[in-house]
Amino acid sequence: APSVMVDEQLVVHVFENLISNAIKYSPYHSIVTVGVNVTPTHVQFMVKDEGEGIRPDEQSKLFKKFSKLSARPTGGEQSSGLALAITHHYVELMSGNIWCKSEPGNGCEFYVEFPIAQPQQTTDVQLLHNNSYVVASSSATSTSSSEYRKN
Ligand code: ADP
Repeated sequence: APSVMVDEQLVVHVFENLISNAIKYSPYHSIVTVGVNVTPTHVQFMVKDEGEGIRPDEQSKLFKKFSKLSARPTGGEQSSGLALAITHHYVELMSGNIWCKSEPGNGCEFYVEFPIAQPQQTTDVQLLHNNSYVVASSSATSTSSSEYRKN
């Protein structure tokens, strides 16, 4: 199974942010789907919701600090416009990529991918972060996903 080299604490922040946003910007009784897919070079994670999505003219602001866009929380949750900027920074620290696919009215699909680790990279990443690191092993060999419901 492929492995990725990520910081244990940072990667938790990344997924908490994407999954909580998916719930926060979705209508009640809708579905949030979390998936993983292995490409030749990366392990790719997806978080998909059925909310109002992000307008094309707003997409470029999505990962900027303090950008609150048209979509507002559906259950009275807090919004600062800061979380995705931090998430984006964390993903870059871990040599990953993050992007969003959205057709307005059709929800969002957020993708995060990390390069499949080569064994000799261990020392580099350890030095780079000067911090904890973890080799997370995915048992998935193809696409798999789970669903959550906002109630
Ligand atoms: P916050 O949620 O605290 O406002 P974020 O940085 O996480 O900050 O998100 C920035 C903005 O992007 C949000 O205010 C919201 O308008 C939009 N957004 C984020 N995630 C989604 C999503 N899953 N669906 C629709 N809009 C989203």
